[in-house]
Amino acid sequence: LDPTGEQLSPQELDIEKKLRPLTFDDFTGQDQALENLQIFVQAANLRDEALDHTLFHGPPGLGKTTLAHILANELDVSIKVTSGPVLDKPGDLAGLLTNLEERDVLFIDEIHRLSPIVEEYLYSAMEDYKIDIMIETGPNARTVQINLNPFTLVGATTRSGLLTAPMRARFGIASRLQYYSTELLTTIVQRSAGILKVPINMEAAIEIAGRSRGTPRIANALLRRVRDFAQIKGDGNIDIKIAKYALEALHVDAHGLDEMDNKILTTLIDKFKGGPVGITTLATAVSESSETIEEVYEPFLIQQGFIVRTPRGREVTEAAYKHLGKLKGGSQGG
Ligand code: ADP
Repeated sequence: LDPTGEQLSPQELDIEKKLRPLTFDDFTGQDQALENLQIFVQAANLRDEALDHTLFHGPPGLGKTTLAHILANELDVSIKVTSGPVLDKPGDLAGLLTNLEERDVLFIDEIHRLSPIVEEYLYSAMEDYKIDIMIETGPNARTVQINLNPFTLVGATTRSGLLTAPMRARFGIASRLQYYSTELLTTIVQRSAGILKVPINMEAAIEIAGRSRGTPRIANALLRRVRDFAQIKGDGNIDIKIAKYALEALHVDAHGLDEMDNKILTTLIDKFKGGPVGITTLATAVSESSETIEEVYEPFLIQQGFIVRTPRGREVTEAAYKHLGKLKGGSQGG
């Protein structure tokens, strides 16, 4: 299971696309963010203007890319998709920008990973819809200013803290996405099952939802894996028995914590007496990058009340000891 979606195969990406809601009405959850966005889009449509530049931040798999596509859809414009690490040179960006039609959406995923040069180049595009481009080379080289069509930049980031202040200031709209409740995820699982044409009962949908780390991407991924088990080990229908069997086999525990979540908690307890311990030390101990721990694992563990951040590092809570069936002080409990 890959909450980040970075290692999805082309086939899996295809399924993700198929499961992606296309309109505001089709999108479940994030009510507050959605309500505001709907108003801003309506107003922009009414005035026939480009929507203000919009920033989505929050952990992976919560719907940032989906919302970017929905915005374009609801604005009735095209969307061009790129990402921070892909945009190497200002020239790449210039190519994209000059091809945008009026009110189009340019979606930049992982916008905190833009190189400083590209980022700076983006500023005037965002602010005045103008860019400088270099023409000719050698002694005749000179820059000319080009006017762009008014467009909307939609940025997504898992790390809003890593965004520079000038970049952040250029977004008129900023929305933080939250982890989803089991109830909302149940709706999403049922919707996806409908699209995939897999029969699933309510109890099983709730079970999958409750074990999905509050994340639609994981809910969808679990649903697809459970479907495999239902087809091979059962009669194709997903009921609670086959759901539980499959989730067990996938090492997803009752809280939806995956192997890395549990490894982080176990390591904190067994190797560091529950902490506090610095992020770099912890990262080394569990063989994961500190970036991924901070972006993907820690936010959920904090939200679930299993760890806390202190000035001296990360510390596990009573709930974590209880979850792992461990006693404070080191000896194993039941
Ligand atoms: P992000 O860009 O935040 O990493 P995505 O927008 O790519 O996340 O969403 C990952 C998957 O989860 C997609 O397949 C998408 O269809 C699904 N998804 C995300 N949010 C929702 C939602 N609110 N309702 C239904 N499906 C969702």
